[in-house]
Amino acid sequence: MTGTAQQRAIIIGAGIGGLTAALALAGKGWDVQVMERTPELKPVGYALAMAPNAQRALDAIPGGIVAKIHALAALQGDGGIRNARGAWLSRNDSAVALERYGHPFVVVRRAELVGMLHSLLPQGYLRLGTAATAVNADDGGVTLDTGEVLRGDLVVAADGIHSRTRPALFPGHPAPAFAGLTAWQAVIAADGVGTYIGTTWSSGGEFGMLPMTDGWLYVFAEAAVDAPMLRGGHGDEKAELTRRFGHLYAPIPDVIARIDGSSILRTDIHTMRVPLPSFHVGKVAILGDAAHAMAPNLGQGACQAIEDAVTLAYCVTSAGTVGGGLADYTAARLPRTSLMVRRSEALARLATARHPLARALRNGLLRAMGLLGPSAALRQADFVMRWDHPAVSGTPAS
Ligand SMILES: Cc1cc2nc3c(=O)[nH]c(=O)nc-3n(C[C@H](O)[C@H](O)[C@H](O)COP(=O)(O)OP(=O)(O)OC[C@H]3O[C@@H](n4cnc5c(N)ncnc54)[C@H](O)[C@@H]3O)c2cc1C
Repeated sequence: MTGTAQQRAIIIGAGIGGLTAALALAGKGWDVQVMERTPELKPVGYALAMAPNAQRALDAIPGGIVAKIHALAALQGDGGIRNARGAWLSRNDSAVALERYGHPFVVVRRAELVGMLHSLLPQGYLRLGTAATAVNADDGGVTLDTGEVLRGDLVVAADGIHSRTRPALFPGHPAPAFAGLTAWQAVIAADGVGTYIGTTWSSGGEFGMLPMTDGWLYVFAEAAVDAPMLRGGHGDEKAELTRRFGHLYAPIPDVIARIDGSSILRTDIHTMRVPLPSFHVGKVAILGDAAHAMAPNLGQGACQAIEDAVTLAYCVTSAGTVGGGLADYTAARLPRTSLMVRRSEALARLATARHPLARALRNGLLRAMGLLGPSAALRQADFVMRWDHPAVSGTPAS
């Protein structure tokens, strides 16, 4: 940057996508300002599975972030998908996966991940309790709820699934649509439960368990439903989990019994079925859930936000002009994330199939694939995990 003015980025939103973008841009010499509307960083949700592709992306940012994540995370061992009686439909071999993808699958507490990313940001880069209310894509102006207007060479809209920037940039484009799916999340102290890594596909939907650090277990579930929750209302979610999954094999009934009902998070799933025409307009780039909200079934929403962030920083720094870099960013990210949105929802339909015949066919296919060994199952995941953007490999972006 010697001899040239330092470039400035204004980032809207301090979720995983916004914080990663801030670190990636700061690592490339940008002056960064992150605006977060909430008065403190309190991510929604308990835990996050972080796949090897996201860790490879983070390797491109200086500061040893992946080692720091590993220090906070629970390494996942062998797991897979079981049927309602607990028999394996598909198994993962963690050693084979590690060899294939170069990084392990890990589960990390959301709050710890966000806290760690925040701690790596230079002092003064984050303004809490400050909402962006308008964006000018032509001149990079961001109006704040304080009335101030900040100006950046680049604006990053990382304002999540209910983004206000998205409809301003793409007026009339359909917002993320209800996918006919609902998800639950909880954590329990897992002493005596044993190690159950993976998910169970049953008539009630999908029920999953992943070990966390310090003997805790992350519990998640998903089901196909006809309508989203009534406005403002969670019902008795523990009773609903018991009704759907309480008849499954041990230890699932015990796991559900241990959940503190008041701590269960229920989220109706909305997905960006109609992809945006572009991931940039003028000086504004859009990333993460704001750009491509997806079903949680591939465990890729945050991982893709991380890929976006690292790719964006690489493109706008290496293309010569910010405008050229933004075109490269869209070209690199739009096709891949659109595929993730489609495949996540397709996987959700399989995992939560309501028709018994569909479930029987699905289970038969999975078992047949399982006979081909762990590498065959893993190959299905290659399109997700074997990501190597130029931001990582160092070759030109387009
Ligand atoms: C049940 C469930 C399980 C999941 N599990 C996984 C998983 O295992 N692995 C995985 O990779 N992904 C998972 N995901 C997806 C993941 O949670 C999201 O994709 C990810 O958190 C999106 O990050 P983001 O930074 O784009 O958005 P967000 O995390 O939503 O952050 C947006 C931020 O912007 C702020 N903001 C909004 N508007 C403004 C404004 N006007 N001004 C200033 N700030 C603003 C918000 O307050 C928020 O802090 C899961 C999702 C669900 C629902």
